[in-house]
Amino acid sequence: MADVVLKNVTKVYDGGTVAVRSVNIEVKDKEFMVLVGPSGCGKSTTLRMIAGLEDMTEGELYIDDELVNDVSPKDRNIAMVFQNYALYPHMTVAENMGFGLKLRKYKKDEIKERVRNAAEILGITDLLERKPKALSGGQRQRVAVGRAIVRQPKVFLFDEPLSNLDAKLRVQMRTEISKLHQQLEATMIYVTHDQTEAMTMGDRIVIMKDGDIHQIDKPLHLYNHPVNKFVAGFIGSPSMNFIDGKLIIEDGLRFIDDKREINIKVVPDHEDQLKEYVGKEITIGIRPEDIHSEDSLKSDKRDKIEVRLDVTEPMGNEIFLYFKISQQNTIARIPAVKETEPQPGEKMDLYVDASKIHFFDKLTEEAILK
Ligand code: ADP
Repeated sequence: MADVVLKNVTKVYDGGTVAVRSVNIEVKDKEFMVLVGPSGCGKSTTLRMIAGLEDMTEGELYIDDELVNDVSPKDRNIAMVFQNYALYPHMTVAENMGFGLKLRKYKKDEIKERVRNAAEILGITDLLERKPKALSGGQRQRVAVGRAIVRQPKVFLFDEPLSNLDAKLRVQMRTEISKLHQQLEATMIYVTHDQTEAMTMGDRIVIMKDGDIHQIDKPLHLYNHPVNKFVAGFIGSPSMNFIDGKLIIEDGLRFIDDKREINIKVVPDHEDQLKEYVGKEITIGIRPEDIHSEDSLKSDKRDKIEVRLDVTEPMGNEIFLYFKISQQNTIARIPAVKETEPQPGEKMDLYVDASKIHFFDKLTEEAILK
């Protein structure tokens, strides 16, 4: 059992920067929780407070129902993997992995056994006698993870562990860490600024901005039901398109922008919740994959928009189309089904899946649909 609970935790640094503002997070036993947000949002500070490397200004931290505010880092039974690996250059891989146990006065045989087991799990058995400088970035990262595994901690903390790896290796290590999580059945808390990492690895995701938590949810729920415009724009790649406009009643409830370049009929399911916004300024959000070409249209919930393409990006299996609606840059991603690709400058009819539109109060930026 290793739940981690933060209750109203605040961190104010010397000088007055409020890095984390009264956050509440409950990480369940064996859960993989990802803290994600733009640089400076307070995610590393949160992780470092859990590790005990940073004092909390206010609030309570529980590990396994035990209040650990005043428990020193080494007694919290957690292990942290850092972005820069922090390996000792003069020690071999085996010595690096076993060092924490040696400090804690574990017996030599026990250390050897644990290092061997961890090396096997990570596939680095044949590297055990090498020094860090003779390892690739990915191998160093594995050693850093190995050093955490040998401790058999209640909780693993990861601080942007894949940031220093190239794109391909990052994808590979992502899967390895996810597998490791399943294999070890441990509680893991993982910090990243990369929404793709968060979406692919997290059981749940905490989205932070400027020291506040905006939403805590499962990846798909975040994707389909973002609570506000920030979360909607942060999760998903390419990002959600936003268009300002208003709701009017004209042959039913419709969304239009200033110039009526977009004029979409609200689907019946959404009507009730949107009625009170008639005449008011709102922002709609449309994900690039919810704009279709004639060929890729699967449903009949179609609302046509006529666009002139600024840029096209063929990705192989799909094409990203860039155009403007209501002077706002907009992206659609459509499957590459045609032999002839759409070209910049071309006019094109595209269709918005109105059932997938997100609606935000323009002032508060909160999602209107619940
Ligand atoms: P993130 O990990 O999301 O990039 P951090 O937790 O590192 O964010 O930082 C949150 C805020 O706290 C930022 O505004 C940062 O400048 C500030 N901060 C971080 N560490 C310190 C520190 N040691 N002293 C003062 N301010 C800090």
